Amino acid sequence: MKKHLLFLGAPGAGKGTQAQLLSQANSYLHLSTGELLRKEIEMNTILGKQVKETINRGELVSDDLVLKIVKQNLDQDNKGWILDGYPRNLTQANSLNKILLEINQPLEVVFYLDIPEEVLIQRLLLRGRKDDTEDTIRRRVDIYKKTTEPLIQYFKDLSLLKYIDGNKDLNTISSDIKQKMA
Ligand code: ADP
Repeated sequence: MKKHLLFLGAPGAGKGTQAQLLSQANSYLHLSTGELLRKEIEMNTILGKQVKETINRGELVSDDLVLKIVKQNLDQDNKGWILDGYPRNLTQANSLNKILLEINQPLEVVFYLDIPEEVLIQRLLLRGRKDDTEDTIRRRVDIYKKTTEPLIQYFKDLSLLKYIDGNKDLNTISSDIKQKMA
């Protein structure tokens, strides 16, 4: 059973939902950089104040800040972990590689949740989170295409990528993932 996993996909592809289900079922750590950042904003911490505007504009927080958060949370005592929303660009992918070498826990599989653009925009509009307005959604999707999508090829080249059809119901996606996890 694989225990060092990563979810890749556009905003609204369902990474968070699937990562949460899988982490609960296996007692793995669910490390969502978006969730952690939102918590900082909620608690009105210094970091939260620093990132609030950026997130509400739909832009990416700086690589350094996100790296710090990942390092703080990815300790060595986990049964396993699932990364969700990180890395989002090649710099972050290289940083992650370094951390994982240091803790000697190589990534075992990357699930790429694929979903048509019209579907994800609809989903995000329905979700209605604070950063889910039409403008920020378009911005996030644009940034995703430009900076995050190249990671699909990056992980494919490392033979880690598993394709998942994200345009299905939640349970079908879950069982597809489980099947590909063995
Ligand atoms: P979504 O599923 O819509 O992409 P996330 O919860 O993953 O939502 O992220 C919300 C926001 O948090 C992003 O739009 C971005 O501003 C910030 N964020 C999350 N992860 C990262 C990251 N790895 N690098 C930079 N910014 C990030």
